[in-house]
Amino acid sequence: MTIQLDEKLDPIYRDVLRRNPGELEFHQAVREVLETLGPVLVKYPEFAEKKIIQRICEPERQIIFRIPWQDDTGEIQINRGFRVQFNSALGPYKGGMRFHPSVYLGIIKFLGFEQIFKNALTGMPIGGGKGGSDFDPKGKSDSEVMRFCQSLMTELYRSLGEYTDVPAGDIGVGGREIGYMFGQYKRIVNRYESGVFTGKGLNWGGSLVRTEATGYGTVFFVNEMLKTRGDSLDGKTVVVSGSGNVAIYAIEKCVELGAKVIACSDSAGFIVDENGLDLNLIKRIKEVERRRIKVYADEVKHARYIEGNNIWSLPCQVALPCATQNELNGKDAALLVKNGCIAVAEGANMPTTPEGIQIFQAAKIAYGPGKAANAGGVATSALEMQQNASRDSWTFEYTEKRLQDIMVGIHRNVYETSEEFGMPGNYVAGANIYGFIKVARAMTAMGLI
Ligand code: NDP
Repeated sequence: MTIQLDEKLDPIYRDVLRRNPGELEFHQAVREVLETLGPVLVKYPEFAEKKIIQRICEPERQIIFRIPWQDDTGEIQINRGFRVQFNSALGPYKGGMRFHPSVYLGIIKFLGFEQIFKNALTGMPIGGGKGGSDFDPKGKSDSEVMRFCQSLMTELYRSLGEYTDVPAGDIGVGGREIGYMFGQYKRIVNRYESGVFTGKGLNWGGSLVRTEATGYGTVFFVNEMLKTRGDSLDGKTVVVSGSGNVAIYAIEKCVELGAKVIACSDSAGFIVDENGLDLNLIKRIKEVERRRIKVYADEVKHARYIEGNNIWSLPCQVALPCATQNELNGKDAALLVKNGCIAVAEGANMPTTPEGIQIFQAAKIAYGPGKAANAGGVATSALEMQQNASRDSWTFEYTEKRLQDIMVGIHRNVYETSEEFGMPGNYVAGANIYGFIKVARAMTAMGLI
């Protein structure tokens, strides 16, 4: 059921496959964007003449480096570090760092590529980049994580800067890791450059609402999608995958808006609580004790723990995949639709496989792709950079209002673009086209760079 690529775009895609062998996730992310750009080249032939798409598919710079460190037993460990500085047409490279054993160049490139369009959608002056390592923080002591982060930054510092490249968190990278990386950067450059990292601690340059932003933003987005259909989250049953940063704050905002969240997961299994999840307990298990989600069912007697990744078999009206890429496949999508799901918004990056997306779109349910739905995280990072630049710190209420306005704006722009290009309600096309045109115009204005 693959969608046919436009005749101008097919050779570009084949060239991407040839030049980037084995990088399956990157191929998937590029293909999803190219599938929607045919009508753009008809309207703006100058983008084809100037080879804007070919240029966007090639990162401006890719850095791959060795990260040697010593574990608590004194043994030497070696990991691999990556930073892909994909596109700086709209501002300094901006995108998180991911620490997970599955990380390789293809994952970082897919994330960096998505980030270009996502960052353009936010309306903030930020380019696209991403980084990470195959380091697994699970089971490591604080000192091991610190030594690893220091070794990573001893190499990466030379490629960063508040006007050059500004990392943040992602899977496996939260406040603790950002603290260690920022500390080592500051020590090497001998400068307190707050704007070089986002997701910082609140008492050393961080922004209120940054922790909550991706999850909250995803929920604001799904609520906007429901509003276009005369509906809202109020009273809806919701299933959220993951139980990390994005999942926890998606659950929090769903509950605030009157929904009932009955399940969440980690990579080993999922918990179901038909009375609605106890969020304080989840925060304690995940944020304070750093334990597995399974523990929830030990503490809440009526809750169930089920091993495996079958969370999408649970009937719900709204599904929020907030764990990782390709976690929701065609079978899962078909089951969700069959069980009455009316809206899906992606807190994670590329969590739905191409088959899954086609099933959601064919069923005409509201489907919000990650690059639009989870853009609230990076948008609030840009708000953190604004506060750092003006030596200011805003209140929670003000920052959350800015986030909400940004998400409403993204939804409006994406929806209007989908209408303008004759595909009303196709948020995938709307997001790709809106983001692409913005970056393409900037690249055109700047000449052949
Ligand atoms: P966290 O590390 O805080 O949490 C990740 C969650 O996803 C954990 O519950 C983890 O379970 C689960 N998970 C990770 N890998 C897998 C896997 N291979 N299979 C099944 N479950 C898995 O990360 P975040 O919450 O920050 O990120 C989640 C998603 O959101 C990612 O796709 C990320 O790129 C995206 N995102 C994050 C943003 C942010 O601001 N943090 C911004 C925009 C997007 P376990 O503990 O068992 O590994």
